[in-house]
Amino acid sequence: MNKIVFNFKSKDTKKIKTPKNILGGKGANLAEMGRMGLPVPPGFTISTEVCELFYQNKKKLNSKILKIIKKELKSVEKESGKKFGDLKNPLLVSVRSGARVSMPGMMDTILNLGLNDKTVVALAKKTSNMRFAKDSYRRFIQMYANVVMGIEIYNFEDLIENYKLTKGVLLDTDLDENDFDGLIKDFKNIVKEKTKKEFPQDIDEQLFGAISAVFLSWESNRAKVYRKLNKIPSEWGTAVNIQSMVFGNMGNDCATGVVFTRNPSDGSNEIYGEYLINAQGEDVVAGTRTPQQITKKARLNAKETLHSMEESMPAVYKKLKKILLKLEKHYRDMQDVEFTVENKKLWMLQTRSGKRTTKSAVKIAVDMVKEKLITKKDAILRIEPNSLDTLLHPTLDEKSKIEVIAKGLPASPGAASGKVVFNSDEAERLNAMMQNTILVRVETSPEDIHGMHAAKGILTARGGMTSHAAVVARGMGRPCVSGSSEIEIDNQNKLFKTKNHIIREGDLITIDGSTGRIIIGEVKTVKPQISGDFSKLMIWADSFRKLKVRTNSETPIDSKTARDFGAEGIGLCRTEHMFFDEERILSVREMILSKSIEDRAKALKKLLPHQKKDFIEIFKIMKGLPVTVRLLDPPLHEFLPKNENEIQYVAKSLNLSIKEVESRIGELHEQNPMLGHRGCRLGISFPEIYEMQCKAIFEALIECSKKKLKSIMPEIMIPLVSTEAEIKIMKDLVIRVARQVQNENKTKIEFLVGTMIELPRAAIKAKDIAKHAEFFSFGTNDLTQTTFGISRDDSGKFLNDYIENKIFEIDPFISIDDGVGDLIEIAASKGKIENKKIKLGICGEHGGDPKSIEFCSKVGLDYVSCSPYRVPVARLAAAQAQLKK
Ligand code: PEP
Ligand code: MG
Repeated sequence: MNKIVFNFKSKDTKKIKTPKNILGGKGANLAEMGRMGLPVPPGFTISTEVCELFYQNKKKLNSKILKIIKKELKSVEKESGKKFGDLKNPLLVSVRSGARVSMPGMMDTILNLGLNDKTVVALAKKTSNMRFAKDSYRRFIQMYANVVMGIEIYNFEDLIENYKLTKGVLLDTDLDENDFDGLIKDFKNIVKEKTKKEFPQDIDEQLFGAISAVFLSWESNRAKVYRKLNKIPSEWGTAVNIQSMVFGNMGNDCATGVVFTRNPSDGSNEIYGEYLINAQGEDVVAGTRTPQQITKKARLNAKETLHSMEESMPAVYKKLKKILLKLEKHYRDMQDVEFTVENKKLWMLQTRSGKRTTKSAVKIAVDMVKEKLITKKDAILRIEPNSLDTLLHPTLDEKSKIEVIAKGLPASPGAASGKVVFNSDEAERLNAMMQNTILVRVETSPEDIHGMHAAKGILTARGGMTSHAAVVARGMGRPCVSGSSEIEIDNQNKLFKTKNHIIREGDLITIDGSTGRIIIGEVKTVKPQISGDFSKLMIWADSFRKLKVRTNSETPIDSKTARDFGAEGIGLCRTEHMFFDEERILSVREMILSKSIEDRAKALKKLLPHQKKDFIEIFKIMKGLPVTVRLLDPPLHEFLPKNENEIQYVAKSLNLSIKEVESRIGELHEQNPMLGHRGCRLGISFPEIYEMQCKAIFEALIECSKKKLKSIMPEIMIPLVSTEAEIKIMKDLVIRVARQVQNENKTKIEFLVGTMIELPRAAIKAKDIAKHAEFFSFGTNDLTQTTFGISRDDSGKFLNDYIENKIFEIDPFISIDDGVGDLIEIAASKGKIENKKIKLGICGEHGGDPKSIEFCSKVGLDYVSCSPYRVPVARLAAAQAQLKK
């Protein structure tokens, strides 16, 4: 058998390669503190391996293990100068769980173990404190009876309350020795009544019962749920730490507390924490007494009158401060520490890396680089890229009470409150009156752009993470919850229903696009703050990364936002989004409805100046950088009038009969538009549309050069290509138009032509396609959709079932699936075989997902492109990907 029990001071713990795996997080840190010579109460860890043996042995500890544990307890007796069960100087121990990663409150702990009817008297004599000894005993009975014997805690709490009521006091601390005698007797009676057994007086039975209970708590329901949520494998098991008790509740020269080496909410380099005089650890957490501040400064800031530890125990405080500094230097990270003071002596009970807000994480990382505690590389690797979202978007005020009425997909981060509206015009109307709204739609279409702009947040009942609502909201930086199948929208009656609520137009709701929660009423939000530390971290990230980061944008506002966030060009300008402006939609409809080339040409002519103007604006913002403009992609019917009013208006404006309009709409109807007449198929059928778009791009370019603006490099991108012939025809078209514009203006135009790779055939036949493409941009939204044959707009309805059944670990529209990844790798390598210089990028939503970015870096893409607010996330993720290589 391997070594299974490790004393905190043992040198053997240093030899363990992965200490947290064997000793658990708590055990590993206690051992490390022990080796550092810090005042850690003597004790030892029973390794996680024993947890496995325990379950293999029908949930029992075998006799060999029991012997080893008893032997190790002897060395604790020696170190502490006390004896387990002794009638003069009894050793009491705590028995605590300790998994590899912290699972706060999920598993069991027992304190004061070793007390029985006899040792309690010995403890009282030894400490000359009868009240303390009896209080400890009743606490132990309560804890043990609950954790090991399964008696519900309220049985004991009710009794304590009765005692306090009878006595007419408020606090536990007002109870006296006699009360504790009564409580001890009553507690034991409860045990007898509920289990038909006496409370164990045999201290070995107590010890082994407690160890078994900790192992059993690894499989408790709450631990299982926590593991599932946090993806912690059940094979890991837990370790058990047995440690001699130190007491913070033996009098007024005793205390217990929790302290962070820096402020976990804003990162300032100041000790931050709380302590309680004459108390045990659980009193700080339980909230029965209000803890006091550790430092005087914090007390003054909080305008509190009760003394800080710095003031009431200056010598111990000094010692604590010194140890905190030592711990931080040793671990090179902010620590969250638990301590106890027993008769003026300081004991360290635990240290671990402290949880912190993103703001604090960034500040601490940057400060620690300045302090030469960590390197820039460490600083970059310490920040979770996705967490940057909380710095860029408003978040819910954590202190607010909320009632979640339904959930959907966390489609675009940030939180927003507003009045419910069911159409975009209403959102715009109320916005003009300075009222906040949440636009609630079954799904959005490009015609909702103005409403999406006007609303503070968007909620849809249908559509996945790459639906129109999700993509556009992310681009604008609007919070969005999409695809909530838990809401049922009744547009006619202007209301939506959830399981238990009916929400009407004008009612206030809040959405949290970072978690997908839909909340009734208004919730306070916290504004994002971008600090100098954040910019510094970004600059460091840029110095390490090789992947370029571009943005998906088609409006000047979004392009400007993205540039401010550090985008290095546009990786996807979806030109169709430019067609929905009120001024243009009529011409677009005219173009689509026209039956002859001549009529279409007329309509396109009207659109040309608009497109040109858009491009000029974007090119100006992106001066000197590449801009990938994608030619028209979606099926034409998306632009058609939808309701009677619109049809009437279009018919009148275009001088057509309603019948003619309706019949053309019928002709354009498709059973499966996502796989229908879209992408380059439109360019093949209606080359004049693509010709107009190319003309607009080239003329915009010439106009910019006439104004002596720094030139951008346009990359003209053909969507939905699956064959060599398609790209060839389309490339010829682009070159033909370029020549025309060149000749007309007598100016040379430089540009690239490339294609999206968003269909499996295109990926497999990438070598042929690369003959005619100067770049590939992976459209992983469609590539995921077509690889799985799962509709990107309908997946929200069933993807949860797939995740619950472990078919998918994560929504493949969020993070690249490895099958889709294989197709990308195939296409990238085949493309490079044909054209060594081919530029490779990604512009699907995965371009802003850190895990997918790591993949892109691994397969050698040149850039990722993502929505403007994801740009900082992508910059950091790209640096991490490089550093992890
Ligand atoms: C894609 O398919 O990944 C893509 C970027 O194009 P769109 O989302 O516009 O279809
Ligand atoms: Mg696509």
